[in-house]
Amino acid sequence: MIGELAVLGAIAAGLSARWNWWRPAVSGGMPVLMYHKIGDYPPASELKKLWVTTADFRKQLEYLRDHGYTAIDFRDWRDAETGIKPLPEKPVLITFDDGYGNNYDLAFPLLKEFGMKACVFLVYETIEQHNAWHDPKTEPWLKMLTWAQIKEMQDSGLVEFGSHTMRHRNLAELPLDELKWELAESKKRLEEKLGREMLGFAYPYGSGAYRADVRQSALDAGYRFDFSIKQGISVLPWVRGKEAVKRLLIRGDDNMFDFHLNMTRGKARF
Ligand SMILES: [Zn+2]
Repeated sequence: MIGELAVLGAIAAGLSARWNWWRPAVSGGMPVLMYHKIGDYPPASELKKLWVTTADFRKQLEYLRDHGYTAIDFRDWRDAETGIKPLPEKPVLITFDDGYGNNYDLAFPLLKEFGMKACVFLVYETIEQHNAWHDPKTEPWLKMLTWAQIKEMQDSGLVEFGSHTMRHRNLAELPLDELKWELAESKKRLEEKLGREMLGFAYPYGSGAYRADVRQSALDAGYRFDFSIKQGISVLPWVRGKEAVKRLLIRGDDNMFDFHLNMTRGKARF
């Protein structure tokens, strides 16, 4: 397993300066991993880096297990904040954006095997449909999760769902009434369907997470945790009024050294 010694060894071996090995380790933070698609990318995909193979995903879960991390969900985090139950010693949050069918087909079996929790952000109007917001020239149409799959994942106790809006539009470009609809309607409908409070929200394209009015609308809609795509590790306790939770983009071309740097430094590359 890769530990600090291996990292030092890698540095001594004179690895390329593209890596952030010199960055000090982040202490007191909770890594939040951001995945999209698990599996082999379709040859026509221009978003290959957002595909992580099952072999790599397995290695990453092994890393988490072997380094003593406990995967939590939004409810665990809320329960810690409200004093019901403290967080484990080394919490990690595994998130998936968009709600692809491959999250069920390929990621869910591995989560079950490792007994690790994860959270999936759904785009309400694409459930049982396809990734309609993508130009098919950039990313071929893909199956999204079905309600039956979503319910099975939720019932397993391993997967909690959050909202990623109704239609995956760029929130920063929407008029206020449509922005509010994307935020509130997706929350309401998902809660009706799943019988659970939607605690988590992720901004499509990360857009609006750092615009005060958009972010305020997300908080006003009632989401407890909002997630940006800003690379990094947010320190605990996270201050809701300050900024959206940072995440670590796990790229398809990352190796385990990148993963280790992400987990410990909050960043793998320049
Ligand atoms: Zn998305």
